[in-house]
Amino acid sequence: MIEIEMREVVDAGCCQDDAGRWYAAARMKSGEVCVSQRSFDTEDEVMEFLKHWTDTLTKPSALLPAPVAARKPPHGAPCNRCGVCCMVTLCELGQHLFKRAASPGPCPALVRDEAGDYGCDVVNNPQAYTQSVNVATYALRMAARTLIYAGNGCDARINGEPVNHAYHARCDAEDKKPAVIERRRRALKLWGMSGGSDDGLQRGGEADRSQA
Ligand code: SF4
Ligand code: SF4
Repeated sequence: MIEIEMREVVDAGCCQDDAGRWYAAARMKSGEVCVSQRSFDTEDEVMEFLKHWTDTLTKPSALLPAPVAARKPPHGAPCNRCGVCCMVTLCELGQHLFKRAASPGPCPALVRDEAGDYGCDVVNNPQAYTQSVNVATYALRMAARTLIYAGNGCDARINGEPVNHAYHARCDAEDKKPAVIERRRRALKLWGMSGGSDDGLQRGGEADRSQA
């Protein structure tokens, strides 16, 4: 099992075992010390790893079975519907619908199919999550897909996984396209979310729920 909690890192550095392998170590505000599962050949490698690992330790997290976490593809790779992101946090659509904060997960709309793949029930059955009875199911579904960034690739990162900067740059460029901004504005409006008015666009966070 992999257990990580919301913690504030106050100090981070390196440590070595008897075999001379290096590990990253972080001390939390609570006094607890976390040591990385990965080991490294050199101190420099640890320092590089620390740049994103300590950041990860303070982010929303959950207890996941190791096989579930192992199934998650690399940051920026095509979504394989592993479900990890929605087990750990709720996207902006989920937060809006279930009136909950992003963390802790899992999202109530996360569903698993017979093949073991995960999906978003808001996309599958949008009418079950809206009062807008006059809006067509297809329109609601497409709007939900827009809001969860379906098809954008995996933007979740776990266990100190490095950032795929090229992927982030592609997402940023896509987000700036007028057609994309307008599609998102309409989607927000359809689901009754802030930013969907004609007054302007409020961008959401990084919650990519590409499955569905
Ligand atoms: S976006 Fe979510 S469901 Fe898709 S691969 Fe990444 S963690 Fe898994
Ligand atoms: S994509 Fe769907 S299942 Fe995942 S957090 Fe968002 S609303 Fe919930």
